[in-house]
Amino acid sequence: MFDVEKIRADFPILSTEVYGKPLVYLDNGATTQKPLCVLDRIMHAYECENGNIHRGVHYLSEIATDRHEKARARVARFIGAEDSAEIVFTRGTTESINLVARTLPDFICKPGDEILVTGMEHHSNIVPWQIACERLGLKLRVIPVLDNGELDYSALNNLLNKKTKIVACTAVSNVLGTVNNLEPIVTTAHTVGAYVLVDCAQAIAHSHIDVKAINADFIAFSGHKVYAPNGIGVLWGRREILEIMPPFMGGGEMIDRVTFDKTTYNKLPYKFEAGTPDYIGSLALAEAFDYIERLGFDNIIAHEHHLLDYAINKISAIDGVRQIGTASKRSGVISFVVDGVHPYDIGTMLDKLGIAVRTGHHCAEPLIDRFSIPGTVRASFAMYNTLSEVDTFIAGLDKVLTILR
Ligand SMILES: *Cc1c(COP(=O)(O)O)cnc(C)c1O
Repeated sequence: MFDVEKIRADFPILSTEVYGKPLVYLDNGATTQKPLCVLDRIMHAYECENGNIHRGVHYLSEIATDRHEKARARVARFIGAEDSAEIVFTRGTTESINLVARTLPDFICKPGDEILVTGMEHHSNIVPWQIACERLGLKLRVIPVLDNGELDYSALNNLLNKKTKIVACTAVSNVLGTVNNLEPIVTTAHTVGAYVLVDCAQAIAHSHIDVKAINADFIAFSGHKVYAPNGIGVLWGRREILEIMPPFMGGGEMIDRVTFDKTTYNKLPYKFEAGTPDYIGSLALAEAFDYIERLGFDNIIAHEHHLLDYAINKISAIDGVRQIGTASKRSGVISFVVDGVHPYDIGTMLDKLGIAVRTGHHCAEPLIDRFSIPGTVRASFAMYNTLSEVDTFIAGLDKVLTILR
């Protein structure tokens, strides 16, 4: 049984009061709160298991190394990867994407080649590719977004051709909540010989990510959006591609042997992990995955679907609220605008009622421009949100709109 009140008790911050009102935290698309077990894991590591990894011969270093490598295997298992050497720890989605965008195009692209993204990407899945395009004389192309917030799959055949070398696409839009149908994208991309990177930053907390089922070449996500701390993230890549890619950053850990004449690189995944890694963030991420599986991921998913459906129904009944993104498959997010009222004003007034939402372009300006709006108000859900919080949010919105209109 999924007992949301019991789960809430695991998250100390949820009992915060904001301006004397109970916090209603609906900004989970930006970052999630952390359960006690994750916080305890960090504490315990610093209290009992802290020593720099992979280097020392001493007890603490060996313990820390062992825990870190077990965490890597845990992460691999969570996303269905068979080979934990395919798990590269990074600082987050942004670094994971930059790692690929800084190394792969240099290796496989010639001037005039193309990189394909979608019209609903987060800036971190646009700008690294633009930089690569500038550096190497490549062309950035874009899969259009339809009015309902779904991708225009009919454009795929026109956009993908022999020049397309990389396709970068999000699994779930952080603005619209659209769950993309990755299958036709991955299949068509592979048909023309392009590599596919899937941004799972939004998807990771709300759906089973299985690298074999998705069948892409790279997957990126951040720990902080899946109940783990800031500063740890993951890049999963196929071994045969990671093997041929040059290193991203240089430094300690990533080398095999260094001389002033020539340096050789470490084996996977260490080749891509220059410097002291976040070997405590990795343990906390593994703990977050344990927590999710102890509760039952399917239970969480069902609860969140219920919340979203409930919220969509309620918000649709408010006069003048226009949802941005009405795709048939959605996850975790409601975005909306109200004609004649600026999203920022709605957000700041909701905050005074203790309700945390996000407003603005959500790091996806091209998508906001596509809808010719100044931004949206976004409510985004996590496992610990309740139907009564949705009611509070809807009542708050009603009140705010009465004042603002
Ligand atoms: C949050 C987010 C990112 C960026 O994640 P960081 O943790 O800031 O690196 C990228 N893509 C999507 C879809 C996101 O929601």
